Amino acid sequence: MTDTLVVIQAAAAELSKSDLSAAGFGSQAASAAGGAYDILLLGPMASSLSSTAAGLGARTVFTMSSGELEAYTAEAYASAVEAFLEGRSWRLVAAATSSSTKEYFPRLAALLDVPMASDVLKVESSDSQRVVFTRAVFVGNLLATVELEAPRALVTCRASEFEPPAAAAEPSAIHEVEAPSELAHPGKSFVGIEAASSDRPDLKEADIIVSVGRGTRGLEEGIPLCEKLADTLGAALGATRAVVDAGWMANEFQIGQTGKIVAPEVYIAIGLSGSIQHLAGMRNSKTIVAINTDPEAPIFDVADFGLVADLFDAVPELTAALEKRGG
Ligand SMILES: Cc1cc2nc3c(=O)[nH]c(=O)nc-3n(C[C@H](O)[C@H](O)[C@H](O)COP(=O)(O)OP(=O)(O)OC[C@H]3O[C@@H](n4cnc5c(N)ncnc54)[C@H](O)[C@@H]3O)c2cc1C
Repeated sequence: MTDTLVVIQAAAAELSKSDLSAAGFGSQAASAAGGAYDILLLGPMASSLSSTAAGLGARTVFTMSSGELEAYTAEAYASAVEAFLEGRSWRLVAAATSSSTKEYFPRLAALLDVPMASDVLKVESSDSQRVVFTRAVFVGNLLATVELEAPRALVTCRASEFEPPAAAAEPSAIHEVEAPSELAHPGKSFVGIEAASSDRPDLKEADIIVSVGRGTRGLEEGIPLCEKLADTLGAALGATRAVVDAGWMANEFQIGQTGKIVAPEVYIAIGLSGSIQHLAGMRNSKTIVAINTDPEAPIFDVADFGLVADLFDAVPELTAALEKRGG
């Protein structure tokens, strides 16, 4: 048994970057073990996403949806995957690290009584009895090697570390699977969700992020300048915890250890120092640009391009230059 199953929550109209990275993990894990990988799409959009997922090089794309999977609850999703796995044999069951999988994968591990590694960065080796992963610990300052010794194991992978698989020459087979009639979630039911809407790209999906720190001095001063730069570039906005704690931007914008982990093509850090907790959420960005008045600011240690300048001069100048070039 050397195969890998990648579980994808099918709730949106398109597969996200994280979903594609999870497929990349599946493909990598399967080749490390000499097996194949399959995808399970779980949720209301499972059928409509199946043809896209079938182009990702998996052997089979399974789809499962039901009324109880319409809205996410950890209990229903864990029970659905548990039921799906009954009588089927995959060496690894994997998903991208997300707020949902942080919640339901440990439940699933408990239901199946199998070991689990979370937020994995790399598959070191895998055979039918033992799988070895690298994962980051202590805010990314140390790398731990984790060995799981069991015929089946669960894993969540950090999406920013895995490239999507190469496009497949042949589409995968697609199988619709019936959801179990009752997905246990005693005493808990989904009531509603309030989602913020924005014209800017989602932080996790954006190719460019303009991230703002305390140096912007807030909503009345530097943040509007950075928003203008973000809009000129078609970028998402991010923030440090200092900005969120000051109430200048909402929680969902926070990047870092206790915020989101991102790895865009370009990360523009403005008026932020580059604390260890902030770096934990963005240090894997492909190109990092930093604007800061302090040449000793730690953000310059990870920046590919650094500008020692006052953001109140540099940001409008940069925006104007970009506008001249048409974005
Ligand atoms: C358990 C824990 C978890 C945490 N999690 C997170 C997290 O997830 N994300 C996070 O971001 N932080 C997190 N923090 C907080 C973190 O330690 C820092 O306090 C925070 O990142 C600092 O934010 P900042 O860089 O905006 O502010 P500062 O560190 O105050 O930096 C402001 C920067 O702006 C520069 N500046 C000032 N004026 C200008 C100007 N005119 N032009 C250009 N530059 C200027 C300054 O030189 C300075 O470098 C966490 C802390 C703890 C203890």
